[in-house]
Amino acid sequence: MARASALVKPASQELLRLEVLRTERLGAHWIRVTLGGGDIAQFVPMGYDQWFRLFLPRRNHDGGDGGDDGLERIPAKANKIFGYVKYLRIPDGVRPVMRNYTVRAFRAAGASGGPEIDVDFVLHGSGATAGPASRWAEAATTGESVVIIDEGLGFNPARGVDDLLLVADETGAPAVAGVCASLPRSATGVAIIEAPSSDDVLPFEAPEGVEVRWLVRPEGVKPGTLALAELQTLPAPAPATHAFIVGEQALPTSARRHLVSQGLDKSQISFVGYWRVGASSPTPKSEQNRAEHNHTEGTL
Ligand SMILES: Cc1cc2nc3c(=O)[nH]c(=O)nc-3n(C[C@H](O)[C@H](O)[C@H](O)COP(=O)(O)OP(=O)(O)OC[C@H]3O[C@@H](n4cnc5c(N)ncnc54)[C@H](O)[C@@H]3O)c2cc1C
Repeated sequence: MARASALVKPASQELLRLEVLRTERLGAHWIRVTLGGGDIAQFVPMGYDQWFRLFLPRRNHDGGDGGDDGLERIPAKANKIFGYVKYLRIPDGVRPVMRNYTVRAFRAAGASGGPEIDVDFVLHGSGATAGPASRWAEAATTGESVVIIDEGLGFNPARGVDDLLLVADETGAPAVAGVCASLPRSATGVAIIEAPSSDDVLPFEAPEGVEVRWLVRPEGVKPGTLALAELQTLPAPAPATHAFIVGEQALPTSARRHLVSQGLDKSQISFVGYWRVGASSPTPKSEQNRAEHNHTEGTL
């Protein structure tokens, strides 16, 4: 399968304005933000690792005015190159923060009575070292507005849903959990997921034949290191295995290289760099063009 067609695009990529319905602390480094209201009726759930661009209002500590003005100014197709250029023209301090997140769960009728989306945010860093999305999630309050653009799936079910190898650091845990929730109950395989502490191991439903291995990472170890090492202990995958690898950029890159060296065809490997140590997301402007045109796996 050509790399360009590997991602599964959604039917619509309209800007959807949603509200924070509630938040829940899930672990030392996890907070779940439940979104709904607003345009939620237009959101079409696709299951698996469905992800979206998330636009967040600037808060005062992000150097912004703390208001929602920026959300009103997001251009259509802000996720494509021309829209992105327009988005960059919104003045600093007003321009919403744009980040990528996963639909951890969708409910057609949740506790609010309407459709709901759960988004699980990793809380990383503290104070000035935490990114704006992490800071926003930690302080999110009911009624706050956000805007999303659906991006569809990075896990392409056409590559196989019977025999899986799922590998992620904590940022990919919502995606792996979403994939496992969508797989046929007969699916088999291994899921390897890193957590930043034992308190951050979040059990999820998986087919009986999918063995879920959580690895608790000691402090100071680079995210993705343990998951890669664990992958390297596994026997070579069968040719029909579909590998899905996401997390800090070095994990998908190194894990893919390893699997290819074991004989797995590149077309069987879905991989995305979710973030990069020392770099804010999304990719710098200079790389945006490349990412948009290639719909690359590897970096979004
Ligand atoms: C398709 C896709 C789906 C994703 N889904 C999720 C999801 O469901 N939940 C989730 O938490 N993340 C998810 N991510 C990752 C998330 O987009 C990044 O972690 C993002 O950088 C967080 O934004 P920020 O504003 O908090 O930090 P940024 O401003 O982007 O980064 C600030 C600093 O923090 C560092 N940093 C960023 N993330 C982390 C981290 N997790 N741990 C340690 N340091 C970090 C950066 O290297 C940088 O130095 C996803 C990414 C992609 C591409």
